Amino acid sequence: MAKLVIVHRNGEKNRRAPQRGNQHNASVVNIGHYRAKLLAKEQELLGLLKRNAITGREEADGTLDEADESIFSHHKEITFAHLDRDAKLLEEVRAALQRIDDGTYGQCLADGEPIPEARLNAIPWAAYCVRHQELFENISDGTPIAV
Ligand SMILES: [Zn+2]
Repeated sequence: MAKLVIVHRNGEKNRRAPQRGNQHNASVVNIGHYRAKLLAKEQELLGLLKRNAITGREEADGTLDEADESIFSHHKEITFAHLDRDAKLLEEVRAALQRIDDGTYGQCLADGEPIPEARLNAIPWAAYCVRHQELFENISDGTPIAV
């Protein structure tokens, strides 16, 4: 018998409507699977960003002595690099969730070609097929070109 798993998420309203009628993307069979992965990733990133924001606030208290200060400033550089990366990733994850709502999830943003399931399994927020992703990474240092 199939086991039904219901996951409750704190404070998260069910604001994302279930699939709409015009589901023409037959290549992605289990979109709920990707939605769940994306939502989990969104929460993970929000948690990381929140934690880093708290870490940043500790600095302002001025409670660190000099030794701590040097360790902290080193740590801060790493934290900020992560913060930047996590914030960008969060944007990509949310854009992917939006594409699920729009019914365009799993299609390359550049040419509309289906993104292979293996790629979506590895990177559920992938917005481009491998060919375009590589193209954009080469010319714009990983920042996708607006389409
Ligand atoms: Zn493409």
